[in-house]
Amino acid sequence: SPTPQTVTVTGAAGNIGYALLFRIASGQMLGTDTPVRLRLLEIPSAVRAAEGVAMELADSAFPLLASVDVTDDPATAFEGTTHALLVGARPRTAGMERADLLHANGGIFGPQGRAINDHADEAVRVVVVGNPANTNALIASAHAPDVPAERFTALTRLDHNRAVSQLAARAGVGVTDVDGITIWGNHSATQFPDLTHARVRVAGDDGGAPAWRPALDVVDRGWAADEFIPRVAKRGAEIIEVRGSSSAASAASATIDHMRDWSLGTGVDAEGAPRRTSAAVVSDGSYGVPEGLISSFPVTSDGSGAWTIAPGLGPDESLLPGEGGRLAATVAELEAERDAVRGLGLL
Ligand code: NDP
Repeated sequence: SPTPQTVTVTGAAGNIGYALLFRIASGQMLGTDTPVRLRLLEIPSAVRAAEGVAMELADSAFPLLASVDVTDDPATAFEGTTHALLVGARPRTAGMERADLLHANGGIFGPQGRAINDHADEAVRVVVVGNPANTNALIASAHAPDVPAERFTALTRLDHNRAVSQLAARAGVGVTDVDGITIWGNHSATQFPDLTHARVRVAGDDGGAPAWRPALDVVDRGWAADEFIPRVAKRGAEIIEVRGSSSAASAASATIDHMRDWSLGTGVDAEGAPRRTSAAVVSDGSYGVPEGLISSFPVTSDGSGAWTIAPGLGPDESLLPGEGGRLAATVAELEAERDAVRGLGLL
């Protein structure tokens, strides 16, 4: 039977944590035959709330849940960790300057990176959810010199899933009839949800067999540029406005998708081609993204360790009306964030 995996969740008493932990414990992340040991890391003031969540996990009597530990000590939290889900972060509060935000998060993600370096399993996989996610991942990675940089990733799967859902709704098809979307760059308002290589499976002429067609032949390009891109990029704000609080279950669901696909593989589609998704991973210089930045790319995983950046899928911005240079703009923002944290001595 598969070896038990040790999963550490930070910010475990928060909203995303609450939506995440029960799904991990039920086997939806690492498979329904893999036992999990959960480690819940919280700041001291939230440890008691995390203990309450641990009581509810016990009360669920999940067959795969081998143990649950709650701690405020990163060294204990990351001992032997195979999967680290870094959710807790310092949110931006009113009047907070960007430098203050980056500095506060440096104080969280630097020590966590160091603890991962010193204590985690050598095959550790790290995903950062807490914002600014890409740059927080960069800070953590910089403090873990013994862990290969490709082990540190940031979540853009929620943006990807939102894009899939929006395209499917517009084309009038199900979400499994859409593929090939890429989220490029930063998990922020500058992200570039790109339909250049996306496809939609639609019924053939005269009701013939369904066939895959380029998405930009199915939906109009004005919609793709003027509605789709901002809708996906600003969906978080839309959820806050409608729901009255920020997205939590969908963020948790995307985190599960990211870790499951990374660990178990993205697999192949009906035609035997590798299935792609989007994740923020360390750049090897692909697509002109400076080496070392943690940026979202089209990726595949065979489950063995690192995500692979899929080649040959660059955006063709000439297909869209309006301003081009969207990939360059989101990458420039990542460079500016990196330079800011470097200036603060956090890298
Ligand atoms: P949430 O659980 O709702 O969110 C946690 C983080 O996820 C935030 O940084 C949030 O960013 C980010 N995030 C990324 N994508 C999304 C998305 N699509 N929708 C919503 N959030 C997203 O926050 P809570 O305040 O409920 O809980 C945070 C917990 O973290 C608290 O319990 C706190 O004590 C803990 N914490 C733990 C630390 C640790 O373990 N060392 C350190 C700091 C905090 P954004 O703010 O931009 O929405």
